[in-house]
Amino acid sequence: MKDLKCTLHSHTTYCDGKNTVEEMVESAVVLGCHTIGFSGHAYIKVFDWVEDWCMTLENEKKYQQDVRAVGEKYKNKIDVLLGLELDYYSKAPEYEYDYIIGSVHYVKTPNTYIAVDLSPDDLKVKVGEEYGGDFIAFARDYYELVADVYNKTKCDMIGHFDLITKFNEKFNFFDENDKKYREYAYDALDTLLKTGVPFEVNTGAISRGWRTTPYPSPFILSRIAEKNGSVIINSDTHSRDSILCEYEKAYEIVKNSGVKNICTVKDKKIICI
Ligand SMILES: [Zn+2]
Ligand SMILES: [Zn+2]
Repeated sequence: MKDLKCTLHSHTTYCDGKNTVEEMVESAVVLGCHTIGFSGHAYIKVFDWVEDWCMTLENEKKYQQDVRAVGEKYKNKIDVLLGLELDYYSKAPEYEYDYIIGSVHYVKTPNTYIAVDLSPDDLKVKVGEEYGGDFIAFARDYYELVADVYNKTKCDMIGHFDLITKFNEKFNFFDENDKKYREYAYDALDTLLKTGVPFEVNTGAISRGWRTTPYPSPFILSRIAEKNGSVIINSDTHSRDSILCEYEKAYEIVKNSGVKNICTVKDKKIICI
């Protein structure tokens, strides 16, 4: 477990996090983390306005400088990495990051973009308008994008593979046992497994009170195990209180799923242990 005391998925006040880079690093040191990696939301503009949960282009430069400066200041206590959470619809970054998390947060329809994880109310209304309330059809389009996320972002890990289930535990929008649903998820998974890139086991929805278990769901983890894929445990933390949120639970779930390849960071490199 000691090796797993790190997160490569964390947000700060540069995007939608509550704490500064330095506050996050201080707390990670207190927790005994060997590494903390920052993954600010890359700039994205799908509507006429800039989404306020993402970094602006000016902010992105300040973010890079700040993470590097704080990393230098704390280098004897912890390794600090500079990463980016790149959305499917973000432009390729101009700057070289230590790593990229590839994530799908929107599904494009003929009329609009649907935010997968903004709020249950918003999701219900939009899937109602765009898919006549058919969440399985929405899932088909979501997983089509997820299948292509490596191609699009050249990421080093797959962010929250089944983010589409974020509100499902509380609102039961669709049945995860649905044959079609599983088929779409497996198709995306099998495509991504060929890349060899690890899948996040992401506890972010637990810390925000939406789920009691991490992404992805057990049937997806079992498939990753069957095909000898790899995972990396991340907290997707948006505050200093949840840097290692529910890691023991996530580790137990991974072990029980039969996944053998668990990745972490050593000397600033992502490795499997
Ligand atoms: Zn995300
Ligand atoms: Zn995130």
